[in-house]
Amino acid sequence: RAKREGRDTVCEFSTLQMQELEDRLVLGARLREAVSRDELQLHYQPQLAAGSRRITGFEALLRWNSPDLGSVPPGRFIPIAESLGLMPELGLWVLNEACRQLRAWHDQGREGFTVAVNFSAHQLQRPDIVDRVREAIERHQVPRGMLEIELTESSLMENVDRVKGRLAEIKALGVSLSLDDFGTGYSSLAYLKQFSLDKLKIDRSFVKDLPGDAADAAIARTIVAVGHELKMVVAAEGVENQEQADFLLEMGCDELQGYHFGRPAPAVEIEARFPRD
Ligand code: C2E
Ligand code: MG
Ligand code: MG
Ligand code: MG
Repeated sequence: RAKREGRDTVCEFSTLQMQELEDRLVLGARLREAVSRDELQLHYQPQLAAGSRRITGFEALLRWNSPDLGSVPPGRFIPIAESLGLMPELGLWVLNEACRQLRAWHDQGREGFTVAVNFSAHQLQRPDIVDRVREAIERHQVPRGMLEIELTESSLMENVDRVKGRLAEIKALGVSLSLDDFGTGYSSLAYLKQFSLDKLKIDRSFVKDLPGDAADAAIARTIVAVGHELKMVVAAEGVENQEQADFLLEMGCDELQGYHFGRPAPAVEIEARFPRD
């Protein structure tokens, strides 16, 4: 019996590996041309002040609509892009497109909010990243304080000193820094204070079962306390209903994001939701 289980396991594993290999080959080939063929788009999801429910910003989320494959979720193509070395190009496209959109909104009189861009782990490891951010900001004349960059815990843990220096330079450009999916990686709290991050985003997995799950409530409450102690704004992602929103507000969470307040949508749809000042 044990032998049979063993064999099934091996079989399942290799099917999975085959799927991954196929993904890499098929998606990878298409992905190489996605930028030049104009198949990428950014969607924007609103982020709100927990108390007033006023929009404070938007998170830019990458969408790929391939004529052959249809729409492929970022959770599937980003790891492949990363492993094929395509992420610098995709990441640059995202950064510049978000800055372009920011500038366009600003020119339309839409102000007083941030736009957050996600950085992959490898992006921060590239020696030219500070120059690329500076170029994007200058090219689109992004006002100070309007651009935010979302980082993951793992991206901070590699080459800590170098990353620290780069982040300080990026901050000096007027960009604010958020730590995404907080609680799912294994960053040490001791490191946290060294990076002078502006915001912690409580991962959606701790929000999902609120307010009922006592453990998740304790984790969320602890993240809020740590964040505030370190003078950071604390945001929650994946807020899907009113109960979660009320509970998070009550525990002191500053910002909320999730389907309850709006799904990621193209810029034109977003514009209808936030009028000019
Ligand atoms: P993330 O940065 O944590 O983004 C939040 C994800 O949660 C998004 O998925 C968003 O659509 C989803 N979400 C938002 N509210 C809710 C909710 O209430 N319930 C549920 N179930 N989900 C919600 P998406 O767009 O599929 O992106 C997945 C991940 O892919 C992102 O997670 C991020 O890690 C990565 N990603 C997306 N765009 C980019 C990008 O431009 N660059 C990089 N490097 N990574 C990106
Ligand atoms: Mg994010
Ligand atoms: Mg997140
Ligand atoms: Mg997340």
